[in-house]
Amino acid sequence: MISDNIKRLEEKILNKCSSLGRDRNDIKLIGVTKTQPIEIIRQAVDAGLKDIGENKAQELKEKYEKLTNGIKWHFIGHLQTNKVKYVIKAADFIHSVDSIKLAEEINKRAFQIGKRQNVLLEIKTSNEATKFGLVDEKEIFETAEYCVKSSNLNLIGLMTIAPFTDNTELIRKSFIQLRKLKEKLNDSGFHLTELSMGMSNDFEIAIEEGSTMLRIGTAIFGERINN
Ligand SMILES: *Cc1c(COP(=O)(O)O)cnc(C)c1O
Repeated sequence: MISDNIKRLEEKILNKCSSLGRDRNDIKLIGVTKTQPIEIIRQAVDAGLKDIGENKAQELKEKYEKLTNGIKWHFIGHLQTNKVKYVIKAADFIHSVDSIKLAEEINKRAFQIGKRQNVLLEIKTSNEATKFGLVDEKEIFETAEYCVKSSNLNLIGLMTIAPFTDNTELIRKSFIQLRKLKEKLNDSGFHLTELSMGMSNDFEIAIEEGSTMLRIGTAIFGERINN
């Protein structure tokens, strides 16, 4: 069933890409496996999924230690500074940098293990979706600048969570805001390539608005028991 779900999703992504003239290869499909057991992740990987996303530091660490074969791990949840140590080895990408303080800690830990950490800034583009994420533009620019001048950070893009609503125009507004912010940063000298946006309910709108990283849980793995 997981492989069927991935196939079905893959078809939708492909259709959307071809209707827009976008290259499917410009979009990473990240399977969000929070609360799912190792066995389920194995099935997804066997079905061709290469990118796996987790939102809890300890959970990522435990799963990474049991399953390292060729998986790219994405940390997508809120990250407390004191938990960076759990994710620094495992995470190929950290999507949720939302303060200079957190960026500093990631840079420090990455330096200690001789790694250049891929990071994205989490931007709060709606009031209801999440408590976390940068809002103030000055703060966003300062955090981006901090990342760029830190030798063990590699700032590649921006991430957001759209509001949980049936109102597609509100969702689209959120994605447009993220895309415009990336353009604005790049206009002033940054070189961001990634937009991490789009979940099970809104990934097609996200693709329309330029997403390069889709974070999909329930459409692949079904409803979560908790979380
Ligand atoms: C859980 C989660 C997702 C996946 O959500 P679905 O609606 O299950 O696709 C994506 N991004 C983040 C940050 C999440 O926590």
